[in-house]
Amino acid sequence: MLFDEIIFGPIKSRRLGNSLGINLLPTNGKLCSFDCIYCECGFNFVNKTAKIPTKEQVISLLTLKIKEILAKNNKIDTITFAGNGEPTMHPKFLEIVKNVIEICGIFCPNAKISVLSNALHCGKKSVFEALNLVDNNILKLDSGIEATIRLINRPNSTFLLPALVENMRKFNGNLIIQTLFFSGEFDGKKFDNTTENEIVAWLKMLKIIKPKMVMLYSLDRPTPAKNLQKVNLETLQKIAQRLENEGITTQIN
Ligand code: SF4
Repeated sequence: MLFDEIIFGPIKSRRLGNSLGINLLPTNGKLCSFDCIYCECGFNFVNKTAKIPTKEQVISLLTLKIKEILAKNNKIDTITFAGNGEPTMHPKFLEIVKNVIEICGIFCPNAKISVLSNALHCGKKSVFEALNLVDNNILKLDSGIEATIRLINRPNSTFLLPALVENMRKFNGNLIIQTLFFSGEFDGKKFDNTTENEIVAWLKMLKIIKPKMVMLYSLDRPTPAKNLQKVNLETLQKIAQRLENEGITTQIN
């Protein structure tokens, strides 16, 4: 499923409430530096006519949409950078974040600003600065084992797990980790990121990163890869308990 608009929603989000989305990627393709086998937008594909929106388009469409929502007395809990791929890949990401913060301050000061990111670009100064400015800097870490990440998230060739973890650590706790738990088979290889080995490796990374919260969830929407299995609530609760025992706040979505 692709988001066919630059500003979409508001949608009721399990994690973020009434969320107005900003899609900084093409509306007719998916562009991401990961290519997760569960991505609700499908596998990466770039249409020949695909274009990313300009900063001016984003800001003017967002302003119009906020005014329209407020005129109907509806509320906005969060303005969320998400959409058809990885938002931090937009070359004007920092400038857009700063502008969105300004607009939000004028029209809906109680709304939070969130970014859903795969964290691969956090090493870039402008991306790091932008993510530090938002209320909810939500970064993906589906495993503490590099081979598992390569299988289920399929990052581009720049990916190295130690570098990713080090970049996350540099936020000094100003980040939320989101982890999707599931099992299945892809490319002839079986995986399950809830096994004891996996949880031990993942916990080790989280103790280095020290996030302010970890969001745990499982599959909820159709996936591009077949043979993927959802994890039940009891398993998520058991994993969450292990985090809580380590003093890490959790949220199950
Ligand atoms: S990081 Fe997010 S947008 Fe990119 S492929 Fe994975 S789920 Fe999809």
